[in-house]
Amino acid sequence: MVIWNSPHPDLDIPENLTTWEWAFEDPAHAPTLYTSRNDLGSYIDAITKERLDFASVKEEATQLSTALVREYGLNAGDTVSLFSSNTIWYPVAMWATVRAGGRVNGASPAYNADEMAYALKTADTKILFTLPGCLDVAITAAEQIGLPTANIFLLEGRREGFRTIHDLISLGQQKYTTPEPPFSIPSGQTNRDICGYLNFSSGTTGLPKAVMLSHHNIIAQCHQLRQLQVVAPGQRYRILAVMPLFHITGLVRFCHYPVFMNGDSVMLPSFTMDSMLKCIIDYEIEELILVPPIIIRVVRDSVVDKYMPDLQRIVKRWSSGSAPIAPEIIALLKQKFPNTGFRQGYGATESTAAISCHPPTHYDYKYAHTGGLACANTELKVISLDSPFSELGPNQTGEICARGPQIAMGYLENPTATAETFKPGGWLHTGDVGFLDKEGLVHIEDRIKEMIKVKGQQVAPAELEDLLLGHELVEDCAVLGIPDIYAGERPKSYVVLKKGVAASEEVGRQLLAFVKGRKVRYKWISEVEFAEVIPKSPTGKLLRRVLKARDREV
Ligand code: AMP
Repeated sequence: MVIWNSPHPDLDIPENLTTWEWAFEDPAHAPTLYTSRNDLGSYIDAITKERLDFASVKEEATQLSTALVREYGLNAGDTVSLFSSNTIWYPVAMWATVRAGGRVNGASPAYNADEMAYALKTADTKILFTLPGCLDVAITAAEQIGLPTANIFLLEGRREGFRTIHDLISLGQQKYTTPEPPFSIPSGQTNRDICGYLNFSSGTTGLPKAVMLSHHNIIAQCHQLRQLQVVAPGQRYRILAVMPLFHITGLVRFCHYPVFMNGDSVMLPSFTMDSMLKCIIDYEIEELILVPPIIIRVVRDSVVDKYMPDLQRIVKRWSSGSAPIAPEIIALLKQKFPNTGFRQGYGATESTAAISCHPPTHYDYKYAHTGGLACANTELKVISLDSPFSELGPNQTGEICARGPQIAMGYLENPTATAETFKPGGWLHTGDVGFLDKEGLVHIEDRIKEMIKVKGQQVAPAELEDLLLGHELVEDCAVLGIPDIYAGERPKSYVVLKKGVAASEEVGRQLLAFVKGRKVRYKWISEVEFAEVIPKSPTGKLLRRVLKARDREV
């Protein structure tokens, strides 16, 4: 067996605590119990500067969870969905849910009603928090799946007829003198057995699925990340939440990890280059966790010059993840920020974010083309693409597999997809193709799973194929990711038209518009190519790799 063990010392990860107990009730980990109020970290709104320290978060989440349990019947195991951009109230709703033993589910606030209805149904949502701008879509989606509108609440703002998170917090506080006790792990179980989070991923194939993350997964990932963190003595850990909180990286890095670190999580409600750069300087952010499309803008966008040399002075480290970053971009970044460190994280929703990343010894541009070393308590292996039972040695390319405490529980109510990805012995088959070198550094080269990544966000080809097949002119189709300099990848569709329909630019435009009208922007198809036939196996399975190879040849 060729297995790479993590080079880091093993960590002892608590097994008997929920994330709530670990973050707010356990003296060894909860900052509210080991430090004074003045020294507590907080969630901060980057623009309004509104600040919620972790003692306030604990209070508000306790009252909110009391209201959700007693007034709305939230039970252990029920799902609360958060369809919102980044706000300091997002983690309050998140903590209230896990405190009650519920499951937190996040998704894009830009979804249209059909996308949202699919998400609510897949996650089996009982309660929904959203923003005023998404409310009409949320109401339509809730009606589609039979979720009562009385169970929809606003995280910010007001709308006639709808309760806000603040109304619920006041209700919890005023109506009940003793708060609902927090959920704890039932006897005979550990925190590995309890799902606290549902995050969407399309995995290897098919439509988006709800990945079940346990309390243990989240706690383990935070401990793994802290082992690799550099914070100068006496200095407060501070992070800028640029990436969305509903993505696994945002959930871990900006909602949980800052509490564990007793640091500040500065939430950027909506991204512009200018607002991000200004916040880096205003809040003196030393490490930026970004996706490659934003790093591309850091090296190309002239607005960055306005903030030099302050940026060069403040930023100590760029951190990239969620998608591959091109060597040319790394070279340009090094030119612009020669004295700054660089690190990458590699992982997936199915691994609660990082499987591997660079430790402080490797915060250097010379390792930037790699995905770093396995996190603590994590083992890696590479299996042959041709014969899946043969394990490969250093520098041999195959599918990357990982085992460790951050590997998720499986997909909600989807045993078939779970069995394809989460294999016996605890191995996650990532669907990513690459190799490990002699030092154990991970190199990602390609993907065998269908997933397309647009600006770090997942697009499931099956979702776009299902949609296009419903168009009156389309007989058959296939969707692939093609390289794009800014977005990383963009969806392209191959379309076989119905008999008698002639291919034309006008038909191509109609199909593009059809998708635009029905899907959130990052899923829009960038190109339609007409084909005579879509390559299929004798059993009718779409041969995506044949199409991809053909596309690369052109
Ligand atoms: P997600 O579940 O949205 O985080 O997507 C996970 C997928 O993103 C992985 O399986 C990879 O295909 C890709 N990915 C994540 N991190 C990296 C990285 N550092 N380099 C290349 N691809 C990555």
